Amino acid sequence: MNQISTKLLHDSPEDLRIASELLRNGELVAIPTETVYGLGADARNETAVRAIFAAKGRPADNPLIVHIADLDMLEQIALEIPEIAIRLAEQFWSGALTMIFKKRPEIPSVTSGGLDTVGVRMPSHPVAREIIRLSGCPIAAPSANRSGLPSPTTAKHVLDDMNGRIAAVVDGGQCEVGVESTVICFDDPETIHILRPGCISLEDLQPFAEKIYIDKAIFEQISPDAKVASPGMKYKHYSPKTKILPVDAPDFESFSDYVKSHAQNGTYCLLFDSDPDIPGIPCMRYGDTGIAQAHDLFLRFRELDEVGARLAYVRMPRQTGADLSVYNRLMRAAGFEVIKL
Ligand code: AMP
Ligand code: MG
Repeated sequence: MNQISTKLLHDSPEDLRIASELLRNGELVAIPTETVYGLGADARNETAVRAIFAAKGRPADNPLIVHIADLDMLEQIALEIPEIAIRLAEQFWSGALTMIFKKRPEIPSVTSGGLDTVGVRMPSHPVAREIIRLSGCPIAAPSANRSGLPSPTTAKHVLDDMNGRIAAVVDGGQCEVGVESTVICFDDPETIHILRPGCISLEDLQPFAEKIYIDKAIFEQISPDAKVASPGMKYKHYSPKTKILPVDAPDFESFSDYVKSHAQNGTYCLLFDSDPDIPGIPCMRYGDTGIAQAHDLFLRFRELDEVGARLAYVRMPRQTGADLSVYNRLMRAAGFEVIKL
């Protein structure tokens, strides 16, 4: 990896122009989106896309999501856009929904991780939209973290992982959603298959499909050799250095009793906002509801590393609505290991 220094850009018209020019020239630029920061490159430029995989240390079979600014761009990259996708786009774009389509040959196989499909999303973040529009490129952008680590929700997180490995990062403030988009594919013209939960939930999508279901890989560990609908689900993901251990407890008292009797040097707790303190144990908090938890989860993971925590016992989020996205990131960070009380 060449040791260039990474430019820190802001959201001024001049900086957005610089960012889009870098992208047009095949460079890597991290951009803010409403979900997490994305590591962008021109999705049609094979060399630039290969550089994304190298900068992240991402397995080559894990496909990238392509970000667009308008529906004309969708037609340039997707073949066969089903009616259900158009209804979903009308409702949820711009926003945190990624849909999988058959890909056009203009999207190289390296972008799609060797699949003949491509994941597409139209972000709502005005900075992301403007950079895509100015560059005129569909932008392939996975989360802008080193592979396996928590996704970045600030420009500082991006620099912590990527300084010297990418041309620039555009600082657009803290991401509003905080976890990655909901990813869906269509098994048939009326069936939605949820491959990754996000803040757009099964309940939100249900009115648009005759059938809808969640992939079983959301709930269990998938072996690295398994053939799965969404290759990203196989890999260890979202993990800080701190060991993350979710505790499935019937109430706060049993959680607190368990932690007090097991805590050692370097043990922290990640609690709901409404939980009281646990005397003698350092605690961080990550909200009470799925939306608030999603906003803070990756931030807290990175803070745990910063304070040098060795182990964090985490209060278990719910598994319904947008909360499922938090549950999924937490379980993946924990490698599906849970303390069940
Ligand atoms: P990330 O870039 O880290 O947000 O990860 C993107 C996620 O979208 C991964 O879990 C991929 O497996 C999934 N994904 C992207 N494109 C496709 C595709 N064509 N088919 C299935 N899953 C996809
Ligand atoms: Mg990622």
